[in-house]
Amino acid sequence: DAVTMEKIVALAKRRGFVFPSSEIYGGLGSTYDYGHYGVLLKNNVKDAWWKSMLQERDDIVALDSAILQHPKVWEASGHLAGFTDPLVDCRTCKTRFRADHLAEGKADLVCPKKPSKLAGQGPECDLTEAREFNLMFETTVGPVKDSGSVAYLRPETAQGIFINFKNVLQFSRKKPPFGIAQVGKSFRNEITPGNFIFRTREFEQMEMEFFVPPADAPQWYEYWKQARFDWYTGLGIRPDHLMLREHESDELSHYSSGTADVEYLFPIGWSELEGIANRGNFDLSAHAEHSGEKLEYFDQGSGERYVPHVIEPAAGADRATLAFLVDAYDEEEIEGEQRTVLRLHPRLAPVKVAVLPLVKKDGQPEVAKEIVGMLRGRMQVEYDEGGSIGKRYRRQDEIGTPWGVTVDHQTLEDRTVTVRDRDSLAQERVAIDDLPALLSEKLAA
Ligand code: ATP
Repeated sequence: DAVTMEKIVALAKRRGFVFPSSEIYGGLGSTYDYGHYGVLLKNNVKDAWWKSMLQERDDIVALDSAILQHPKVWEASGHLAGFTDPLVDCRTCKTRFRADHLAEGKADLVCPKKPSKLAGQGPECDLTEAREFNLMFETTVGPVKDSGSVAYLRPETAQGIFINFKNVLQFSRKKPPFGIAQVGKSFRNEITPGNFIFRTREFEQMEMEFFVPPADAPQWYEYWKQARFDWYTGLGIRPDHLMLREHESDELSHYSSGTADVEYLFPIGWSELEGIANRGNFDLSAHAEHSGEKLEYFDQGSGERYVPHVIEPAAGADRATLAFLVDAYDEEEIEGEQRTVLRLHPRLAPVKVAVLPLVKKDGQPEVAKEIVGMLRGRMQVEYDEGGSIGKRYRRQDEIGTPWGVTVDHQTLEDRTVTVRDRDSLAQERVAIDDLPALLSEKLAA
């Protein structure tokens, strides 16, 4: 069965991954709240990203910069003048959408008059000229609202990295090539948010700026494109649903000498999951000029002084979470019964193991709780004794739990349990005392 966005949205709500925000007040368009399993899943996505950036290498350091920054940051970065999308109105049906999306034939807004068509594409559409709309959210800092108190919610995390370049260089004893990685919320007043958590006005980014000697930039650009593609497939994304798409020269921002998108085949078609850009020395030079600080690298060995070039892989945590959900979603029939299952990579699964007593008596719950205690320090475990065993398995399948441990009559006799595999449905009988090592091993595989 083809997975649709509707099915993902329904599962996400039913099973406590993602809820529409402010629902009791009628909702606030395109804002979402993450429930228990959504928090666990997105945390696992971000942890896997951090791990690939920090633990698995020694040339990247972490940063967590403020969301509110000096307004000059956005002047220097070009966001104040140029972080805009072209906005078009259709006078016929009173809709508003992005002209660039319309031109690419991927407007994400369905025409309210003709639901089979995208907004702006019908012969009866009466469109205004496109006008540039700045996507930054403006706010004021301090009790007095005047022009000196204007601040912006950051529309990307990257600038927080560039303005800390000097701080990081001083303490970290790193020299190019080295990177600074950051995960955090960003805000964009999108013209047409939509498609669930694909495009929202408040979202989380996972960005890394990799500073390199200018001559080495092309080779690092190639390196990061491949590394980022491999990160997704390593976490279970089907390679034939993922591609690297190099931008055409007319798509490139003026400072970029190369940009590629990692695209995923979402139910809405191939769409950007992450952008990898060769940004040259644009950012550091711009901030050096506007701040008066020298943002360069001086190599004491060679006596060389230069402004490093930057390779930036910029991903979205929510968009990646959506891709993992979509890719994992499956429906199948087993022995005449329909089941929905999320075949999430075990590292991403919100819960790694469910411990289920077959019946709620005969000492089974007590042994099951003892097992939960043995496993809890190693992985996210869930105890569930409510309802038929079949129903409990279905529930764990739908949240993507890779293993189910069942305590039954035999357990009370010989202290063995069955371990059920979510995907193959195979059951193996193992000794309780072997469980912690066995499950840790499966999880690490
Ligand atoms: P688009 O062209 O789709 O608006 P972009 O090219 O402006 O996206 P970038 O500025 O490159 O996006 O941002 C890097 C990543 O941040 C994107 O690949 C995406 O994963 C994520 N992202 C950007 N905007 C949003 C949003 N409104 N909602 C959710 N994630 C977003």
